[in-house]
Amino acid sequence: MAVLVYASNAEGKLKKSAFEAVTYGKKAASILGCDVHAIVLGAADDAGKLGEFGASKVFQLNDANLSNFDSQTHANVVAQVADKIGATLVVCAHDSFGKSLVGRLAVRLNAGTVSGANSLPSMDNGFSVTKNVFSGKAVATYHVSSEKRVVSVMGNTFPPEAVGSAVQPESIDVTIPANRVRVKEVKTVKGTVPLPEAELVVSAGRGVKDPGNWGIIQELADTLAATTACSRPVADMGWRPHHEHVGQTGVAIRPNLYIAIGISGAIQHLAGVNQSKTIVVINKDPEAPFFKAADYGIVGDLFDVVPKLTAAIKKHQSS
Ligand SMILES: Cc1cc2nc3c(=O)[nH]c(=O)nc-3n(C[C@H](O)[C@H](O)[C@H](O)COP(=O)(O)OP(=O)(O)OC[C@H]3O[C@@H](n4cnc5c(N)ncnc54)[C@H](O)[C@@H]3O)c2cc1C
Repeated sequence: MAVLVYASNAEGKLKKSAFEAVTYGKKAASILGCDVHAIVLGAADDAGKLGEFGASKVFQLNDANLSNFDSQTHANVVAQVADKIGATLVVCAHDSFGKSLVGRLAVRLNAGTVSGANSLPSMDNGFSVTKNVFSGKAVATYHVSSEKRVVSVMGNTFPPEAVGSAVQPESIDVTIPANRVRVKEVKTVKGTVPLPEAELVVSAGRGVKDPGNWGIIQELADTLAATTACSRPVADMGWRPHHEHVGQTGVAIRPNLYIAIGISGAIQHLAGVNQSKTIVVINKDPEAPFFKAADYGIVGDLFDVVPKLTAAIKKHQSS
């Protein structure tokens, strides 16, 4: 019996979510009474570092067919490794890679699956984990009765915890299938923490009124070293790129701090942000629905409040 963690990587490095997934895997393995192993597909020169976060073995397969993420190929290989090591639990991050892996893995392993779990397994009544449902308005407990389970873990829920030392990645004998997907071009947003991994997010909505006004939002974000996001209409109108759109039809995030500026707080927006640990809302309408979800609220004109907030943070940083 073992826990196997699929560690996501991009551009030759592990993603932050890989360390979170291994931390989760290590804790889950302690509950199940077994070891945790990790699998890295493609290049990641820091793969051995997963040992510091609890992986007793790190398997790495650096094959050209695995270098670009393809859920069919990766699920095939991860399932073979899971079978080889007798994994009864396969864990991955609930990131863009993990979301497209869990279903395929579950079918291949004949496993029950929970995507987007936010708790460690409880073995009190068989295997169960919890996850948020109904746009974060309720928490459901999922009991998994199959012998094997596949779980993807919500980001920023289990911070990476160093518990050991690095290990030397090793190979494992599996059959690597030919890629059925041909990647023609990869476009990567540079110079900013990707939204799903961001701990601080400054987000703005239609209240900014014009894309030319984005400067005050960007300055607040830069001052905090935060990632920027926006509501859907702001992306739809082309004021901001689509990858910044958060919500039900955009990116779902769970940062430590979410500052929502000139955003009404429609249910479709909240669905993607209401798991943020602290929510600050700035809106001139005291009746804006977002205030009900806020930990802190400022009723005021964003063109007045945001520059003052930025100036106050700068003053605090320099004192
Ligand atoms: C199927 C479906 C899916 C959707 N998915 C998403 C999604 O994923 N993400 C998403 O965001 N939306 C989504 N929407 C749209 C959603 O319903 C709302 O229309 C949208 O979130 C509103 O965006 P907003 O808050 O920026 O704009 P508005 O609703 O126009 O709100 C602007 C806010 O700014 C405030 N404001 C204006 N001027 C100022 C000022 N000077 N200072 C301070 N505050 C000011 C106003 O009081 C208001 O509260 C979806 C809708 C549907 C039907």
